[in-house]
Amino acid sequence: MTDNFDLEHIWHPYTSMTQPLPTFKVKRAYGATIELDDGRTLIDGMSSWWCAIHGYNHPELNQAVTDQLQNMSHIMFGGLTHDSAIELGKILLKITPPSLDKIFYADSGSVAVEVALKMAVQFWTAQGQPQKTNFITTRSGYHGDTWNAMSVCDPVTGMHQIFGTSLPNRLFVAAPQTKFHEEWNPQDIAELEQAIQQNHEKLAALIIEPIVQGAGGMRFYHPEYLRQAKALCEKYNLLLIFDEIATGFGRTGKLFAWEHAQVEPDIMCLGKGLTGGYMTLSATLTTKHVAETISRGEAGVFMHGPTFMANPLACAVALKSTQLLIEQDWQANIKRIEQQLSQHLVPLNELDYVADVRVLGAIGVVELTFNVDMKTLQQQFVDRGIWIRPFGKLVYVMPPYVITQQELSDLLEQLVEVVKTLQGAH
Ligand code: PMP
Repeated sequence: MTDNFDLEHIWHPYTSMTQPLPTFKVKRAYGATIELDDGRTLIDGMSSWWCAIHGYNHPELNQAVTDQLQNMSHIMFGGLTHDSAIELGKILLKITPPSLDKIFYADSGSVAVEVALKMAVQFWTAQGQPQKTNFITTRSGYHGDTWNAMSVCDPVTGMHQIFGTSLPNRLFVAAPQTKFHEEWNPQDIAELEQAIQQNHEKLAALIIEPIVQGAGGMRFYHPEYLRQAKALCEKYNLLLIFDEIATGFGRTGKLFAWEHAQVEPDIMCLGKGLTGGYMTLSATLTTKHVAETISRGEAGVFMHGPTFMANPLACAVALKSTQLLIEQDWQANIKRIEQQLSQHLVPLNELDYVADVRVLGAIGVVELTFNVDMKTLQQQFVDRGIWIRPFGKLVYVMPPYVITQQELSDLLEQLVEVVKTLQGAH
């Protein structure tokens, strides 16, 4: 399963070093298949946490990396630039909200969020309102693991309890309650309205994952929430930050989730699927107004500049991945996946220990009434030839878009079987 070195010396995400969870060694991956060291193959239901939208080992993405490698793998972005960053920028501006005009490349989703928060603070300082430094957000959100990203994650399921007062104190309101397909409940916005009304003088921005709250609970909420939130931000002078790191690049059935509501943010964070999961890269986009205001401020510049900013290998593969996506009929493909997810998963609603089943685009979620034992469940999935990593009460899938109908059926049939065996396990 794993050699001892990994177990004894290498930390994995959110794990203990005294009681590490088992890991499975991967030899290679291709399409929607993960091949383990012992020769077993697994059908991938995770896209490596939202990223590998075109599957693994894609010939065109491999080629894009190889071509870029012939010229340079990296070059500093201070004072230098390159075609991969420029061409990627052109395509991103075409597919993101029309009001977004300036792009800041960074190295991970969490850093994109840090950049967004810093932009908001620098914006208000430059506007002569240096007291507007805090942020408001909803519960059940997730925005990353760095300090300030952590501070706007859900305070209960996030890391607030462990890091306590070392984290900046943000303003939280209830998560949006009206579900995506339900009728809008006007009361849903009341708490946000009141909190903004009372605190706007100190608030730089509202940060939120549009439509889908990912790692904070895989919740899908009503687009009207975003329309009303935008109106509140305009009325009370807050910037609106959309974290589309998980929702971007077609996952929810729209290219980006803001399109469900037709609400344009002032700042948008992209990551994960940006490079098709090939390597880490993120982008924080903003409007001309925000960028020019920051640039007219006392500092005169935006104060951020990572070493690996706009890494050419990452930009080259991101460009190819984005081209690949928009050149195909991705909407029809996501619809196909969505229909199959619904067909297989919705019947699980009948089980008394299934609290909810929900599907949006290429995301399928089975919420149980109890926390799963991740270790046991993951082993069962692997024994059945599928790769799914549950957390908390959630068993969920977000497969690579290249998954075939047959592979997806096999994956979901096994998932359903395993969920059925949980009867009596709680
Ligand atoms: N925002 C959202 C919505 C995310 O889902 C994630 C990653 N799970 C992040 C930010 C952080 O991205 P990264 O892990 O690349 O730092």
